[in-house]
Amino acid sequence: MSSKTSPQAAVSQGETELRMESCVFCDIAAGRSDTALTFETEHVAAFPDINPVAPLHVLIVSKAHISSAAELDRSHSALLADVFAAAKHTLRTSEFDTYRLVSNVGPEGGQVIPHLHFHLLAGREFGDPTGSDRPSEENS
Ligand code: 5GP
Ligand code: ZN
Repeated sequence: MSSKTSPQAAVSQGETELRMESCVFCDIAAGRSDTALTFETEHVAAFPDINPVAPLHVLIVSKAHISSAAELDRSHSALLADVFAAAKHTLRTSEFDTYRLVSNVGPEGGQVIPHLHFHLLAGREFGDPTGSDRPSEENS
């Protein structure tokens, strides 16, 4: 087994680190990729999702490697304020004024990249995120 800690291992261990090797969002947030940041603060960076599912689809990620929202506590209050500042700035500089902000947590929650991120989505209507608009088994 490799001696390097993978991002996957970080999720299972619940680790929070300033930087994680082999993590695509750590690389983007630190400017070590071709992806241009559209907004950044001390704590967060924003950039377009590579596979947008709405006319506006921006990812707001933490600069520190945090596995998911499940790791957040009161010590992250400045980071969380910056997430909403990034959302506000992004909307202000877009043609949209309503949006959805989503953070998937864990595989069943739809999380694929194990680095804290929020999907900022705008430009179309969104269904009920709780799943109450999910087709029933008889209708599917
Ligand atoms: P998750 O499913 O983990 O909540 O969302 C991960 C998101 O990251 C997906 O919407 C996916 O399209 C996006 N993504 C994955 N890799 C990259 C990348 O290298 N660059 C950018 N800009 N987005 C990425
Ligand atoms: Zn990371």
